[in-house]
Amino acid sequence: MSITPISLNPIGIIQSCFKEKFGIPRQSRLAPAATANLVLSPPFNRAEAVKGLEQFSHIWITFIFHQTQSNDWLPTIRPPRLGGKQRLGVFATRSTHRPNPLGLSAVKLDGINIKGSEICLKLSGVDLLDQTPVLDIKPYLPYADIITDATYGYADQPFDNQTPNKLNILFTSDVQQFCINYQAQTGRALAQLIEQTLAQDPRPAYLRNKPIADNEPPRYHGISLWNLNIRWYYSTAGIVVDDIQIVNT
Ligand code: SAM
Repeated sequence: MSITPISLNPIGIIQSCFKEKFGIPRQSRLAPAATANLVLSPPFNRAEAVKGLEQFSHIWITFIFHQTQSNDWLPTIRPPRLGGKQRLGVFATRSTHRPNPLGLSAVKLDGINIKGSEICLKLSGVDLLDQTPVLDIKPYLPYADIITDATYGYADQPFDNQTPNKLNILFTSDVQQFCINYQAQTGRALAQLIEQTLAQDPRPAYLRNKPIADNEPPRYHGISLWNLNIRWYYSTAGIVVDDIQIVNT
């Protein structure tokens, strides 16, 4: 028996601190300083649609993996946490490459701003790319959603087996000062966001296995957060964040 295809209307759009996919934590709540606005779109931008939601500290967001939605899906996936070597069924993973590109994240609801028809939910702890279309919002219900005796197989920790512990993050003094000034001007906890994001070790699995020698030239990496480009390299002491540039948008 075939099932009739369903069409869904996004109810809003995410404005996230993460401007590109690289570096986004693999799950929500791994970087509590990662913030986003969820802006409701017409005809869903009605104050009564969020009446009572302010009573909840956390919400579930159902969204579209819009940046990868045109990719073909495969019945098996190589989860990064298994070093990219082992294949598991797509439904045994939280991969973005799925038959339907639907994501589900529990995030913190920091506030709801309502100005006429502009309705904006302030979120933190997000794992969402900028411009992600949102399909639904539901309150997080601890009595139903916390499952204390749940088992979790291969996904027993937030990090993969190549990075069992969080990495040390070191800032140059210029970067440290930039973060202080930026937070004073914007209210954004930049230093924490960089630390929490890079501590997850966003390198691809094959680079994580490569030891770093003391005398080798630094291998640079970059990430876009808010209106900033952040550059860092890996050293034997950990990750060194050595440059931040403001991007003109
Ligand atoms: N918590 C969600 C879930 O379990 O369905 C998402 C988990 S998924 C493994 C998290 C990754 O999705 C992030 O690291 C990021 O690379 C990717 N991602 C986030 N928003 C996306 C979007 N709009 N389109 C494509 N990929 C996205």
